[in-house]
Amino acid sequence: MHYVNSKTILSPKNGMNLYRGCTHGCIYCDSRSEVYNMGHKFEDVEVKENALELLKSELIKRPRAMIGTGAMTDPYIPLEKRLEHVRKSLKLIYRYGFGFTCITKSDLILRDLDLLEKINEKSKVVVQMTITTADDDLCRVLEPNVCPTSRRVEVLNKLNEAGIPTVVWLCPILPYINDTEDNINSILDYCIESKVYGVLCFEMGVTLRKGNREYFYHKLDEHFPGLKEKYAEKFAYSYVLPSPNNRKLMKIFKKRTSDAGILNDNGEIFDYLSEFPQKSFQSKLM
Ligand code: SF4
Repeated sequence: MHYVNSKTILSPKNGMNLYRGCTHGCIYCDSRSEVYNMGHKFEDVEVKENALELLKSELIKRPRAMIGTGAMTDPYIPLEKRLEHVRKSLKLIYRYGFGFTCITKSDLILRDLDLLEKINEKSKVVVQMTITTADDDLCRVLEPNVCPTSRRVEVLNKLNEAGIPTVVWLCPILPYINDTEDNINSILDYCIESKVYGVLCFEMGVTLRKGNREYFYHKLDEHFPGLKEKYAEKFAYSYVLPSPNNRKLMKIFKKRTSDAGILNDNGEIFDYLSEFPQKSFQSKLM
């Protein structure tokens, strides 16, 4: 890891990136793409040394809203255990009355359950968790340095018990790897069991571009011999690589989530994630 002094901590839409780079090792990770101009090795995580001072001064100035994190880097990387930048940010978010949402694959989030409950009581918290496969062995290949799916489901259950709403990202679905009916059905079983609020799915497939394509293909060679050639032949340099089973799997996804009363419209889910409960928050202040 290395430190930098940053000028900003929140985007105009209240996105927060405390870390840049990630050590979870997901073989398909889009954040490796060259378009993001990371400028350092992806695993050499950049830490904004002055993040907490910057965050505090922004929270004092901005109207209350949901603060989101995890779009580019999982905030609960192992480094967070030691640095506690997320935990300290949560304390500020609580103190200044903002809401919080994050995308993670890590059970480290349970360390902060006390703060998440307090923020949720005062305003709103939504935890978003990515699940790509119901098979823990495959998960350890696809996402090697973070807890496997079975543990993520335990996390979802614990959050549900604590009254914290959750959303699952059902992506990416990799052609010829996890794009089976059995896998999608098993993940949806987990989502139903954990009473998730919504499931985000952007069709069944994966995106690849310069930077992440090379890494992904290297990992295919390592774990799925012969598959890189199949991908190259079928998809060449396409950005979007849809699963040949997309239509069938999307039908299952839509039907099962609708039957279970789980939100499955991406636009509605994103609206829900960014909605800050002004009225209930104000009544809690009174
Ligand atoms: S957790 Fe997210 S940011 Fe980290 S390697 Fe996996 S996909 Fe990339």
